[in-house]
Amino acid sequence: MTKEKVEVLIIGSGPAGYTAAVYAARANLKPVLYQGIQPGGQLTTTTDVENYPGYPEGVTGPEMMIDFQKQAERFGTDVRFGMVTKVDFSSYPLKAVVDDEHEIEALSVIISTGASAKWLGLPAEERLNGKGVSACAVCDGFFYRNQEVVIVGAGDSACEEAHYLSKLCEKVTMLVRRDEFRASKIMANRVKNTKNIEILYNTETEEVLGDGQVVTGVRVFNNQTNEKWEIPATGFFVAIGHKPNTDIFKEYLKMDETGYIINKPGTAKTDVEGVFVSGDASDHVYRQAVTAAGTGCMAALDAERYLAAKDADFEFVTPQY
Ligand code: NDP
Repeated sequence: MTKEKVEVLIIGSGPAGYTAAVYAARANLKPVLYQGIQPGGQLTTTTDVENYPGYPEGVTGPEMMIDFQKQAERFGTDVRFGMVTKVDFSSYPLKAVVDDEHEIEALSVIISTGASAKWLGLPAEERLNGKGVSACAVCDGFFYRNQEVVIVGAGDSACEEAHYLSKLCEKVTMLVRRDEFRASKIMANRVKNTKNIEILYNTETEEVLGDGQVVTGVRVFNNQTNEKWEIPATGFFVAIGHKPNTDIFKEYLKMDETGYIINKPGTAKTDVEGVFVSGDASDHVYRQAVTAAGTGCMAALDAERYLAAKDADFEFVTPQY
């Protein structure tokens, strides 16, 4: 196992991580940022971002995240591809292991690991993943051009994805488990007013049908009448929310029952000194790029103040890469 010491370790590469990096780098804290398995985070799976200030004409999620990365690198952030697989916050300096082969000792850690898509828990979701089952319409919609697809969910994500799919696909059937949407009115109305989207209320998925190679349809049921039927489809999209990516921190940090890390009110501090949290890893309320960026800024400022107060005597070694 190779070893290295860093002043600020940032875990995650969404708006929170990169904003923390911009601030930490400009404060000369030489941040090292690990991108995780999805560089750029959840925004790389979205289409147009129209609500991030500073882009009057809108911008695509992937383009915006390239801008974020460039800005972090411009001030000297060491951005690396790699996954933090383990941490040990039981002693100081704090420890993290990258890809099970590189150990880092850090004077401060900023967690910005975000959240991941939730699944329904059907066996077919795993079996047919990538063969017709997807949790990302923007990533995979292209493969279903002129075909019929089904999407599950009734939040803003589901509406956004259904609308996106409607532009590519022949028909989109949307399964809403209650008799109303959770999404904001504007997003729900956009879906309701799209001709080739059929909305089925009180309808849930019993099984995704397929011969093991491709999806051929979806067996659904009405949860009021128990009536069952099959919808022919080649794509099955799940858009039912997200789970915070915080499992590796469970042993050390205070979290709520879903796994969102609890920060001290008005700060990015966790209950472990030197460990800070930003973005969706601790936010189940706002979950926006701009709020994630805001808390990334807070985390870097909190880390900077923490390190200044500590005034640690710390010897740096050159990264072994
Ligand atoms: P939400 O938690 O808001 O919605 C999840 C949806 O999935 C709900 O409608 C829920 O149904 C449904 N659901 C959950 N579990 C199941 C299940 N097992 N079977 C069927 N349906 C299920 O998640 P989103 O990802 O949509 O949104 C998260 C946040 O991100 C929100 O704050 C949203 O506003 C924001 N967002 C904003 C966007 C924008 O403004 N452009 C775009 C995307 C997201 P039920 O309602 O019955 O609980």
